[in-house]
Amino acid sequence: MPAWCKRLADIEKPGDNDLINDGLIDDVLIIGGGIYGCGIAQAAAASGYSVTLIEKNSIASGTSSQSTKLIHGGLRYLEQGNLKLVYEALHEREILLKNAPQLVQREWFYIPVYAGDKRSPWLIACGLLLYWLFSGGRSRFRWLARKRWSKALPGISKDGLRALLAYQDAATDDAALTRAVAASAASFGCRIMEGKALEHAQYDGQQWCVKLDDGSEIRACMLINASGPWMDAVCTRIEPAPPKSPVQLVQGTHLLLNRPCSAYIYTESTDGRVMFFRPWQGRMLAGTTETVLAGMPDKPQPTADEVAAILATYNRYFPDSPCTKTDILDTFCGVRVLPSGGEAAFAANRETVLLVDNKQSPTYLGIYGGKLTTYRREAEKVMRLIAKQLPPKYQADTRRIALKE
Ligand SMILES: Cc1cc2nc3c(=O)[nH]c(=O)nc-3n(C[C@H](O)[C@H](O)[C@H](O)COP(=O)(O)OP(=O)(O)OC[C@H]3O[C@@H](n4cnc5c(N)ncnc54)[C@H](O)[C@@H]3O)c2cc1C
Repeated sequence: MPAWCKRLADIEKPGDNDLINDGLIDDVLIIGGGIYGCGIAQAAAASGYSVTLIEKNSIASGTSSQSTKLIHGGLRYLEQGNLKLVYEALHEREILLKNAPQLVQREWFYIPVYAGDKRSPWLIACGLLLYWLFSGGRSRFRWLARKRWSKALPGISKDGLRALLAYQDAATDDAALTRAVAASAASFGCRIMEGKALEHAQYDGQQWCVKLDDGSEIRACMLINASGPWMDAVCTRIEPAPPKSPVQLVQGTHLLLNRPCSAYIYTESTDGRVMFFRPWQGRMLAGTTETVLAGMPDKPQPTADEVAAILATYNRYFPDSPCTKTDILDTFCGVRVLPSGGEAAFAANRETVLLVDNKQSPTYLGIYGGKLTTYRREAEKVMRLIAKQLPPKYQADTRRIALKE
């Protein structure tokens, strides 16, 4: 038996066990093949549940391929006082660096600080010290001497540059990471169905009867809604109506610019928010923005204002090689689901929200929000909730399951 798993005493599941175990009824049915759906599928399949995951397009076709592609604690969440999120995410970062070294790499990130910037070099250095402490000393940081600026960040504007700080964090290919988690789930027996959308789901008091858009039907004991920003649309297809909580949909755009990029750069956008420049496919990926949406489109598209804001920020930092729209090679556009509490999108809480139909014995679970980085930890929480209804066969430790590209 592998090190990551321990067989539990045989425990009877509730309901008609013959039907459950011969594959006619799944233990768990997951809607959505983003990082959250795949993470839950991996943890559930490794725990011995029979699991099916349905994805209306392909794995990672939603937000999980449109992110900034960082595996990080998030320096800006420190500023918001969300210390728990930063601490947990830094811990998850180290697990991913160990379990998926070919997909997640430690990198140096540079923070140029200019006269008139919102955050002073000393404030940033204090944040980096806290980040270093929270990471158990694994996020080293430096204050770079002036003579090293040009070599560290070639082409960056020196006009008004007061300081250059550097710290360690991690980067990934978000879609490849999500596919690797899906492949891991499949290796534990999870059935993954791409190109299949949920049409309708109804709970008959014992099990879920789920109809797919191709007319086929799946029965399951537990229904997990991990459809990310499409959560509300999926909820309208579920009976009885699942629990919901008010959310804000916030679109973020990245532009792939026809410019070289050798470093990860953490900057302030022209309106004072955080913007990253990072290497991607041999060019520079720049973003992100925060545009509040009134409703969720099938395929989010960058707005003219978002494109203008990213180009303006790039041109502020790299005035010697300015970019226009003709330098845009590709665009990425994803939507975050943030709990709505009237906060500005930039300051809104980035924690994951779990909604269940019944706390003692859940049969439906909705999950949204959160970060790519913390998917494994959230999947663990989901396992504890599923176990209230269906005891697992194995005690699987996903901290020890390696991911392959
Ligand atoms: C601009 C931006 C930048 C980000 N940067 C980072 C970052 O650098 N680091 C980080 O840790 N986090 C980052 N995040 C957060 C992270 O990307 C998200 O938390 C994460 O990708 C959400 O994954 P998900 O599985 O919930 O949703 P998604 O990836 O959107 O998955 C939902 C899936 O459900 C499917 N679906 C929808 N309806 C149906 C249906 N009816 N039937 C079947 N399937 C359906 C969709 O096709 C989709 O694939 C960023 C987010 C954004 C928006």
